Amino acid sequence: MSLFASGDRTVGLLAQVAVERSVDRYPDGLTYAVPPALADLRAGEHVRVPLGRGDSSVEGMVVRVMPADAASNVPLAKLKFLEGRSTAAPPMPAQLVELAQWISSYYVCPVGMTLASMTPSAVKRGVGTVTRTFVDLAAGWEDAMRAAKRVTPQQKRVVEALRTAAPSERPMDVRDLAERADLGTPEPVKRLVSSGILTSERRTSVEAEWRAERAGAGAMPELTPAQRTVVDDVRATLNAGFSQHLLFGVTGAGKTEVYMRLIAETLAAGRTALVLVPEIALTPQTGGRLLARFPHERVAILHSGLTAAQRNQQWNMVSSGQVRLVMGARSAVFAPIPDGQLGLVVVDEEHDGSYKQDQMPRYHGRDVAIRRAQLAQCPIVMGSATPSLESWFNATERRTSALHVLRERAPGLRLPHVEVVDFAEERKRFPDNRVHLLGPRLAGAIQETLDAGAQVLVLLNRRGYANWIACADHRCGWMMRCDRCDAGMICHKLPSSNGGAATQYVRCHHCQGEQRLPRHCPSCGKQVSVFGLGVQRVEEELSRLHPSLVAGQTMLRIDADSMHDAADFHDALGRFGRGEVKLLVGTQMIAKGLDFPGVRLVGVVNADTALNLPDFRAAERTFQLVSQVSGRCGRGADAGRAIVQTFQPEAPAIRLAAAHDFEAFAAEELALRGKFGLPPWRRMARVVVRDADEEKARELAEALARELSATVGDTGIVVAGPMPCPIARIADRWRMQVEISAPNAAVLGKYLTAARNAGVLRPGETYAVDVDPVALM
Ligand SMILES: [Zn+2]
Ligand SMILES: [Zn+2]
Repeated sequence: MSLFASGDRTVGLLAQVAVERSVDRYPDGLTYAVPPALADLRAGEHVRVPLGRGDSSVEGMVVRVMPADAASNVPLAKLKFLEGRSTAAPPMPAQLVELAQWISSYYVCPVGMTLASMTPSAVKRGVGTVTRTFVDLAAGWEDAMRAAKRVTPQQKRVVEALRTAAPSERPMDVRDLAERADLGTPEPVKRLVSSGILTSERRTSVEAEWRAERAGAGAMPELTPAQRTVVDDVRATLNAGFSQHLLFGVTGAGKTEVYMRLIAETLAAGRTALVLVPEIALTPQTGGRLLARFPHERVAILHSGLTAAQRNQQWNMVSSGQVRLVMGARSAVFAPIPDGQLGLVVVDEEHDGSYKQDQMPRYHGRDVAIRRAQLAQCPIVMGSATPSLESWFNATERRTSALHVLRERAPGLRLPHVEVVDFAEERKRFPDNRVHLLGPRLAGAIQETLDAGAQVLVLLNRRGYANWIACADHRCGWMMRCDRCDAGMICHKLPSSNGGAATQYVRCHHCQGEQRLPRHCPSCGKQVSVFGLGVQRVEEELSRLHPSLVAGQTMLRIDADSMHDAADFHDALGRFGRGEVKLLVGTQMIAKGLDFPGVRLVGVVNADTALNLPDFRAAERTFQLVSQVSGRCGRGADAGRAIVQTFQPEAPAIRLAAAHDFEAFAAEELALRGKFGLPPWRRMARVVVRDADEEKARELAEALARELSATVGDTGIVVAGPMPCPIARIADRWRMQVEISAPNAAVLGKYLTAARNAGVLRPGETYAVDVDPVALM
């Protein structure tokens, strides 16, 4: 390495440093000179650097270290030296830094911001952690007992308590053990550890918490021949570089068992497995099962319900290489598993929309997981009963994924019988003129199921009480809209604390603004009425029909309004799982992944809530919702049934979901998308231009569309717009969109990078760039 003189300084190494709040220098950050004392600096380390004219000292991360003579275009004399290491957080593995650069590039987000979003703030702040001690009988404990000079009666009770404990209860929290052995203090346990009869290890409080879930699920079931084939096929690709697998299995087919076998193989080979689940909702059940199957492995669970201290601790455990199994929602894809250790990535329910982040960086967790597996050179398995058309296309048309299919439910389980009910017809059968959300067929089935002592799920994927607030006199035409958004207000009810009448208020679901429900029409003074659908209204109707559910507190509503945090959700599912709750009513939160054998009826109040939205994925989403929620029943001895109310019984998304025919739906939908040049045949990016001034938003969007169109050339890229977004204003900002469609991801990436380097595309407050968008409102 040659040394360059820079003024009176000597520069041997340069470092590119990403700083969170800096201009969008794609993709490498700012260049600094490395002081000779830091010659061992490497990518992924946290450093402090001087920034700006005032040289204020800021945190950054090293993206790349290179010899000064490799950077011929860098004006060495002007370079600043970086100040030094920052020890706030452990260094990031080099592969994650590389992943951040890819995300920064593909999803059009400054690299500093990307890197900053990958490390939880609790980790950067180093928030304190809590651990508990777990003990178990040591190998050869009997010999150690005989060799011990003296074993007290208390100590004997401890050993006996461990010896007679179920395998899934070991190792055991010292405090639980002390209680079980009827000890006043943990001293006898400590002495048993020091004499080698017991082993002890420290676990985080999080691990301890999830361990409680694992009881009874530890046995390894026999694989069906179909599961066996999948396991064998994927196993052949373990330890053999990158490969991509789509596991398409009907609901209840036992996909989790396939994952567990592959995880076991990965652990046996001494490597770490990373498991992604769509959201916190699924973490308790899946987490409990994983812990039960691998009671002796260190598991890290990363999700939004953790306290700052827990998050920091889990992160550090992963980073130090102690953890063999990492599970979590979207952001767990950034778990700092040391380079060279990752052996398998699993993405469960890969179709789920919650994998897409809706703020910068707007990445898709599944697609980032694929990239991560590529960097780690390991297989990735994506599973779903309703694969996204992107993944299905990759498996069946492009053949970049291997397709594995589980067509049958696990032995003893049958797919539910799904009845599609024409709600327009149903309504004619009501004897009165009241508005009912549950038709006679669904209401009758709920009654029968409850009478038989079984459990019921009722879904309406719309929050609040009613989504239409208007003047009772239709000639007046007044309708309540948000002052700050181009959207109607939604009526919500707050249950009264003293049993009196519920309070009503209205809320905007876009800016979250709230107001009181007006009594009189501001335009003509007549009464105001609320109509339309909302899950609270379904709850109200169920309460009226089944007063015993209310009296016995055996009905529970689950939606974003009733569940305040992960713990609420966890408790609610616990009560349902134990049979204390007979009927769950809720939004899509109840449609996902839950596996309760007592559910014998699923009711869908209105399957059309998403069907008519101006979004090309409307049909796909409807198909997924109806299939997934009906798949929640029939997980016990009975097949169960699902009743789907709809005004569009002939819509393919509904008809084919009822027939459990994903492949027919996918074929039909793919053909349609192909005809219109939509994803997955082409790739899309959407730029939303936002400004408080409507005219300004339009001008900026027009300029953007013009400049983007000018560089299209013969790339096959199509620029459409500008046009107003379907929701033209949110929180006082007008929204215009420009859509970019490209023949493939590589062309799109190259084009966006060029636009960014030319200063045409400046991601930030005004320009929201969304690559592979999943929501188009
Ligand atoms: Zn609003
Ligand atoms: Zn009016």
